[in-house]
Amino acid sequence: MTQVAVVGAGLVGSLQAILLAKLGYKVSVFERRPDIRKVKIVAGKSINLALSDRGWKALQYAGIADEIREIAIPMYQRCMHDLEGNLSYQPYGKDGQAIYSVSRGGLNQRLVNLASAYPSIDYFFDRKCLDVDLKTNSLLVRNTQTKEQHHESFEKIFATDGAFSAVRLRLQKTPMFNYSQKYLEHGYKELVIPANEDGSHRLDKNCLHIWPRGEFMMIALANLDGSFTCTLFFPMKGEKSFETLQSREQVQSFFEETFPDAVPLMPTLLDDYFENPTSTLMMVRCEPWNYQDQVLLMGDAAHAIVPFYGQGMNAGFEDCSILYEMLTNSGNNWDGVMDRFSEIRVPDGNAILDLALMNYIEMRDHTGNPDFLLRKKIEAKFSNLYPELWTPLYSQVTFSHVRYSEAMNAGKEQEKIMDQIMEMEDIHEAWDEPKVMEKLLSLVKK
Ligand SMILES: Cc1cc2nc3c(=O)[nH]c(=O)nc-3n(C[C@H](O)[C@H](O)[C@H](O)COP(=O)(O)OP(=O)(O)OC[C@H]3O[C@@H](n4cnc5c(N)ncnc54)[C@H](O)[C@@H]3O)c2cc1C
Repeated sequence: MTQVAVVGAGLVGSLQAILLAKLGYKVSVFERRPDIRKVKIVAGKSINLALSDRGWKALQYAGIADEIREIAIPMYQRCMHDLEGNLSYQPYGKDGQAIYSVSRGGLNQRLVNLASAYPSIDYFFDRKCLDVDLKTNSLLVRNTQTKEQHHESFEKIFATDGAFSAVRLRLQKTPMFNYSQKYLEHGYKELVIPANEDGSHRLDKNCLHIWPRGEFMMIALANLDGSFTCTLFFPMKGEKSFETLQSREQVQSFFEETFPDAVPLMPTLLDDYFENPTSTLMMVRCEPWNYQDQVLLMGDAAHAIVPFYGQGMNAGFEDCSILYEMLTNSGNNWDGVMDRFSEIRVPDGNAILDLALMNYIEMRDHTGNPDFLLRKKIEAKFSNLYPELWTPLYSQVTFSHVRYSEAMNAGKEQEKIMDQIMEMEDIHEAWDEPKVMEKLLSLVKK
């Protein structure tokens, strides 16, 4: 059996290990942290992710979608909370289309469990990859318990060791490897809305809740135990920022002014605020994602993006499904596969990075704006009437398998058209009249 290595047993590494095992490889997975299955994941205190169609497709290839569905909660719409506590809703897609709330830790545990059931997958925890020797295609691995180090060679190495990838660091030193890293000026903090005493949710669990406040926002995604994980995305520095909110009084009054309807639902707000870390958000672009046909970067190691399109993990899972398709189609013949994979995926990684940045502005600023909501309503109506002519950008990204780069280009064209529609004089009164659909149709067919 051909021996391959996966570096990093996060979400993408564990899924990639399963797909490689299905293709007949003997897989060694090296993870610097202890076995995540032994860690207690506290609901409401770990990141929640929105899992969508690109992710589901890869999970289906791995034959584990049903097992993951058991720990996922569908969210059919955004629910926006304004300053007065009024709610407005925006469906994510058409009837029945949803994105799914999953706990990152819980999902990781389940993936490791499912992967461990394969006799051809071996997990090595507390094993930190320090370096890669590209001449011998070997990993330098340190046992973080015993401090012993050893080299081990593999036919192929898959680097799924996250945004600060050690494998990528080695590739950065090879000729013609391009790399850039940028921190967002906003960071984030996890907070909690606990369950009601009877274990029920305090808000509609089938919505992704957003408190859009212009320069920043808070979101909440449901957990299985009745709680919600809230995430405050907030400037790291500046007048209103993590830097300036220092005392319990400051935090209390900021939340009362800014998220008044959420405060009564958050009895442990102040403790959570001061106990939970403030984390940063970092973006990475690089290319190529491979070193010859030996080493391949996947997931955040290749494309770390900001979380505002809910696509970081989904894009990483799509890396896995696309590679799986390429190998299945080539009958496991690796000739040129890594080069081709990189050529195809780098533009898509860059596109989803750009889209995610744009969506931050949309979520924190525009979702609270009546013009934006009207625009989306008109788009949805047109898309329902002419589904073959118009798939909203959000749906292309979230509910389709169209390449991210193609979706981004189509989205730019749609935006130009919608700008013209929104300029119609009486659009606010007449938006539901046939003339609006007629104009849209004529613009689309131009
Ligand atoms: C606040 C927030 C919200 C998000 N929301 C969403 C969302 O809604 N939808 C979505 O799709 N994505 C979301 N994401 C992104 C998502 O979490 C990441 O894209 C995803 O976790 C990437 O998976 P990965 O396996 O590539 O990397 P990671 O999850 O970072 O896993 C990397 C693994 O490698 C291990 N490792 C690191 N270095 C080494 C080493 N040297 N040796 C051995 N092991 C190593 C790490 O310990 C870790 O286990 C969000 C991210 C954040 C921060």
